Amino acid sequence: MDKNQFIEEVSKLGIDVTLEQLEKLDRYYELLVEWNKKINLTAIIEKKQVYLKHFYDSLTLVKVIDLNKERTFLDVGTGAGFPGIVIKIFFPHLNVVLLDSIAKRINFLEVVIEKLGLENIVCVCGRAEEYALKHRDDYDVITARAVASLSVLLELCIPMLKKNKYFIAMRGKDEDDYFSALNVLGSKIIKKDKFFLPYEKSERNLIKITKEKNNSINYPRRFSEIKKRPL
Ligand code: SAM
Repeated sequence: MDKNQFIEEVSKLGIDVTLEQLEKLDRYYELLVEWNKKINLTAIIEKKQVYLKHFYDSLTLVKVIDLNKERTFLDVGTGAGFPGIVIKIFFPHLNVVLLDSIAKRINFLEVVIEKLGLENIVCVCGRAEEYALKHRDDYDVITARAVASLSVLLELCIPMLKKNKYFIAMRGKDEDDYFSALNVLGSKIIKKDKFFLPYEKSERNLIKITKEKNNSINYPRRFSEIKKRPL
C-alpha cells in the first residue's frame, strides 16, 4: 500500500489524513527500520507492507468504536507500538498507555514518542497481569493485537476496564473458545466486524466487548495459573 492508497483506504474508515500525520508516520517508519537492525521489533519492514499491515491495520479499530468519544486508551502487548502509537497520531486527545513486558521495545517506544513529539502518552514495561492489579476499572478502551488467546486476554484486560466500556480484540481469525471467560468476567460481545485487508486480502476480526459487572478481585490470576487453567 503506497501513501496515496493509504490515504484513500483510511478515508473509507472516516479518517482524513493531514500532512502532519503523514510526516509522523514517515518518521515512525524510519525509526522502526533503524531500530529493527538492533532489536527484534517486527518481521514486516518493507515500506508498503508496513503502511498496510501495521499503520492501516491499526486504524481499522475505528470500524467498531468512535474514539472521539473516549478518553483513556490502553494497548496491551503493544510491541513496536501497534496499534497504540498509530492511534495516538490520529486521535491526539486520547490519554494513551502502551504496555509491554519487553524492555527493549519500551525503550524504542520512548524514543518514538520523543521524536514524534507525542503528548499524553506513556510506556510501561511490565506484564499485564501485574499491571492490572493496580489499575482495576481504569480504562475507557483497552485493545490488544496479536498478543495471546482471547480467553487469556479477557482475563488480563477486562478487570482494567471501566464498567460499560470497551475491550476490542484485534485478531486474525476469530476461532478461540472464549465464551466461558466472557461469562466469568461479566462481559459480553456487543459488536463483531470481520473484514479483509485491502490489496492482500488477509482476514481480520475485530471483537468489541463490554463489561457489565465488576470483576472478582481474584482476577486476573497469576500467569502460570491463567495458562494452566484458562477460564
Ligand atoms: N501488538 C503488537 C503488534 O500487533 O504488532 C505486538 C504483537 S507481539 C506478537 C506480542 C507482544 O505482546 C510482545 O511484544 C510481548 O512482549 C507482549 N506480551 C505478551 N504477553 C504479555 C503480557 N502478559 N503482558 C505484557 N506484554 C505481553
